[in-house]
Amino acid sequence: MIETRQDLEALDCADDLREFRAQFELPPDVIYLDGNSLGALPRRTRERVAGVVEREWGRDLIKSWNTADWISMPQRTGDKIAALIGAGKGEVVAADSTSVNLFKALSVALRVNPGRHLIVSEKTNFPTDLYVAQGLIAQLGGDLELLLVDGTDEALEAVLAERGAQIGVVLLTHIHYTTARMYDMRRVTAAAHNAGAVIVWDLSHSAGIAPIDLHGCDADFAVGCGYKHLNGGPGAPAFIYVARRYHERFMQPISGWMGDARPFEFLPGYEPAAGISRYLSGTPPVIAMAALEASVELILEAPMEAIRRKSIALCDVFIALMDRHCADSALELISPRDGAWRGSHLSYRHEASYPIMQALIRSGIIGDCRPPDLMRFGFAPLYLRYVDLWDAVMRIAEVLRTREWDRAEFRSRQSVT
Ligand SMILES: *Cc1c(COP(=O)(O)O)cnc(C)c1O
Repeated sequence: MIETRQDLEALDCADDLREFRAQFELPPDVIYLDGNSLGALPRRTRERVAGVVEREWGRDLIKSWNTADWISMPQRTGDKIAALIGAGKGEVVAADSTSVNLFKALSVALRVNPGRHLIVSEKTNFPTDLYVAQGLIAQLGGDLELLLVDGTDEALEAVLAERGAQIGVVLLTHIHYTTARMYDMRRVTAAAHNAGAVIVWDLSHSAGIAPIDLHGCDADFAVGCGYKHLNGGPGAPAFIYVARRYHERFMQPISGWMGDARPFEFLPGYEPAAGISRYLSGTPPVIAMAALEASVELILEAPMEAIRRKSIALCDVFIALMDRHCADSALELISPRDGAWRGSHLSYRHEASYPIMQALIRSGIIGDCRPPDLMRFGFAPLYLRYVDLWDAVMRIAEVLRTREWDRAEFRSRQSVT
């Protein structure tokens, strides 16, 4: 039972991940509850980037493509991410943005079952996933269609049962960006396969925060984001996973020279590289890739079971404190209360979500809003303390009680952030 701030201090003392906080650059006057949107900066990442800029670029110039092995950074970083998502070496590359990787993955996924004309996704999926599917359909034409269903395992299974023979691809985000609801990846992948469809998983809100077993689930394709729980920095490269069984069967549509078998022979005809390397397109963004690689290395030092355990506990404690101290306000938790099927953020509905969040940010409690009326709080187990939750909830309670948010400066959309 959590009654006092001391109870939370005790949880921090017993936290087996507590040493990790010192590995991050965190402003002293901020409680950062937005690591699910932009992960914080690890100290080693700052140092790695400085080294790449000063020594590898500044001093060694173009030689660093070989001497610092810049050229294999996408594969090397991909292998490190693979260890976080249950993929094998040589099945993941870091490259481009999640949106671009979705385009590649979906394009290839559609070619697995050329006779089937439906892409199934979820109505409230992250917009870029739906937009990329729409763009690809507009480009390919024919009778391709995007079919959007409710976001429950049951709704998906129903559509797979009814229209399975027409469904080529199922495109889903593992952990929902607002509700944090988590799909049962094994069950949904098996249901897609039973209908003869392939599946593309978007792991943007899961990679680095929850155990993922792409091999164990027999997943076909996956993409994900580098700047959220992977802490790769703003606009970090994303990643793409393709199951080995498809590597040599298909080429992807953005067939740039870095995905060619012999880019430095400058030949006129494209020949896809062997393996996952063919999913590269252009030159890797070396500085950004170095940041992502260093940050992923840090996550790999923490046992994933410990990350997951603390992530669930942080959310549970936050919910309990909010229930207790912010109970009679017009707040509604829309995320699952069952930690087993929840990611590492929580969304609360409130009609004044925007000004409330502005008031919180003004006092150093950083979360974010998603329209029309959601406040979202993310919980990063490697750098958040339990006492931070106490301090954040006490402040939220105060803002609600005093209606401090109901001031023009917080209501104006031009203010604060
Ligand atoms: C954040 C996020 C993205 C980001 O896409 P980018 O192209 O890298 O900007 C994609 N999908 C989901 C589900 C996300 O949460």
